[in-house]
Amino acid sequence: MIYLDYAATTPVNDEVMASYIKVTKEYIGNTHSIHKLGVESKKLYDDATKQIADLFNVMENEIIYTSGATEANNMAIIGTCIANHKRGNHIIVSMLEHPSVYKMCDYLETLGFKVSYVKNLDNGMIDMNDLKSLITDETILVSICAVNSEVGVRQSLKSIRQVIKKENMNTLLHSDMTQAIGKYTINIHDVDLATMSSHKIYGPKGIGLLYRNSKVNVAPIIHGSTKYNEIRPGTVPLPLVVAFSKALRIALTDVEKRESFVKKLNERIINHFSKDETILVNNTVYSIPYIINISLSNVKSETMVHALEQHDIYVSTSTACSSSELSASVMAIYKDKKRAMSTLRISLSYLTSSEDVTNFLKVFDEEYEKLKAIN
Ligand code: PMP
Repeated sequence: MIYLDYAATTPVNDEVMASYIKVTKEYIGNTHSIHKLGVESKKLYDDATKQIADLFNVMENEIIYTSGATEANNMAIIGTCIANHKRGNHIIVSMLEHPSVYKMCDYLETLGFKVSYVKNLDNGMIDMNDLKSLITDETILVSICAVNSEVGVRQSLKSIRQVIKKENMNTLLHSDMTQAIGKYTINIHDVDLATMSSHKIYGPKGIGLLYRNSKVNVAPIIHGSTKYNEIRPGTVPLPLVVAFSKALRIALTDVEKRESFVKKLNERIINHFSKDETILVNNTVYSIPYIINISLSNVKSETMVHALEQHDIYVSTSTACSSSELSASVMAIYKDKKRAMSTLRISLSYLTSSEDVTNFLKVFDEEYEKLKAIN
């Protein structure tokens, strides 16, 4: 198998899996129980959370576990809107976000909040002048992903923060860091709120987190017993928490070394595609090496995905999460519907080998030629 869909999800690391199994078997107590088993579970939970907090140099109470990035994005956006609605009713998002951001924005509009979409430049970077002009006294939140999931454009959160805070000190900055964690060194202190997801970093599915600076008010979106956890009530999934903590520690090891390895694979693939004039490479100079996005001519990307699948090779169309065929991000960057209708995403990992790339390119060429001839 040649798996090149790491931006959709990743296989679970063996050590992470081992810790998940160990905790499931050996720590049966509910962290909220007052007896010995509960206390032992709570201690493990606190240790795992402290390890995450230390990785990002934040406080333990600034980490809120969620079921994944979708919930964390939802919580960050509606949670800050509800908690801060007396200050204003306006939020700003980019045109490069995940559906879990857009769908929440649509919902907020039905509740009376106003949503603005900040423009991006041709290279995918946020247009800072537009951002500046959109911020008002009413702006509660700006949400901009650290790395776009389709084209991999990496934003400068530090510069975005500077622009925002200069216009309105009270406006909060949230960033969906789902595609950024483990791929380069991020500074979480550039933002007030950040989303992460375990299954994108070789951890189990079903857990993510929202980092929330302790000074920021967020209203809960799930309601239950607030005795132990005010913002996200419910029984703590201890094995998932411990496994996620481990996955994060592994993901934040050798980040630069892995990145330079993946960059070499990326260059080989992009050079190869660039030689074919029927293929448009959608990456910009600001795309991270882990994500490659191309548009095909006269061949549906879905057909290509299935053709490669016959060879046990896995890539994706624009994104695994989008229901429409059109890539919203390619559209936002290139403003070309045809180009945005036929996108293929190839996403790499430090687990990808040079041989995988060679074989993938060979099969890709053969299948692409066949499909072009049919069309
Ligand atoms: N944000 C981004 C940028 C993503 O790539 C994804 C997953 N495709 C999500 C959010 C949703 O993540 P989850 O599956 O953890 O809910």
